[in-house]
Amino acid sequence: MAEPVVLATWSFGKLAVEVASKLLTDGKSALDAVIAGAQAVERDPTVRSVGFGSLPDRIGRLTLDSCVMDGQTLNCGAVAGLEHIRSASAVARRVMEKTPHVLLTGEGAKWFALQQGFPLEMPHTLEGIQEWFEKHPTNKKKGEKAVIRGPEDFTLPIDESNHDTITVLGLDRAGHLGGVCTTSGLAYKLPGRVGDSPIIGAGLYVDDEAGAAGATGVGEEVIRISGSSFLVELMRAGKKPQEACELAAKRINAVAIRRGVHPPTCAFIALSPKGEIGAACTEATAFQYAVFKVGKIEVLKAKEIVLNK
Ligand code: ASP
Repeated sequence: MAEPVVLATWSFGKLAVEVASKLLTDGKSALDAVIAGAQAVERDPTVRSVGFGSLPDRIGRLTLDSCVMDGQTLNCGAVAGLEHIRSASAVARRVMEKTPHVLLTGEGAKWFALQQGFPLEMPHTLEGIQEWFEKHPTNKKKGEKAVIRGPEDFTLPIDESNHDTITVLGLDRAGHLGGVCTTSGLAYKLPGRVGDSPIIGAGLYVDDEAGAAGATGVGEEVIRISGSSFLVELMRAGKKPQEACELAAKRINAVAIRRGVHPPTCAFIALSPKGEIGAACTEATAFQYAVFKVGKIEVLKAKEIVLNK
């Protein structure tokens, strides 16, 4: 029998770890535990980048991205651009369980959720709407009407400072791995933009035979290196989770150098089938993660991989 382990991105991941670790200790499956943990964060309106109360896109629509994966069967499901349903991870799980598909998007994802009995809900909080009015890139002057004025608004830079996905990875008593990734993506993103979080292999990858990995940060850059799948394949080839996470962060840096851009903020977490953990991030990401291991919950700072190291 394995000793349960959970890890989750960011300090707000502690809530997910608290919920998931109780379930794992009670003998629940890794997938049930990590999704319950992620849902606790999705319901928390103080977490402004996940689920209810997170930050909308450029035209004020709040759309959610999520995926789930079961390490025993490699079953997976995902939703992208999901509107008016608060728990994207629960819908992603239904996609996995009730359809022959892996990813549903936009209106189709919403119709599927409604058909599955999810309630149509207001995803915004008053604070979120107010903040959008104040910070909206096309609406700099206070009090000005928030409108998309023309195609030029779509070329304004995205505010990359406000994001942060919750990714939760777990190992259960039966020795199986499970993972979930859920987010509203980059704040004030272009309508229709999808990041790494609902992409199996980018934001999340889980395989009992190799390990589990998840990402947070600028999704475009995580997709560019197939971040989580890259990391899991490193573990399959024998790397420990910590070394694999550091190599993924190095890869992000190397790609940025090659493309002549400043390295983006990206972070990775990983869990081996034996319960070993790893975490690393690129420079200035200040990435923290929450862990439950041998009965103790901690929030730890990840190793930063600076440029050219
Ligand atoms: N990876 C997410 C995205 O690009 C955002 C984040 O984790 O900070 O949508």
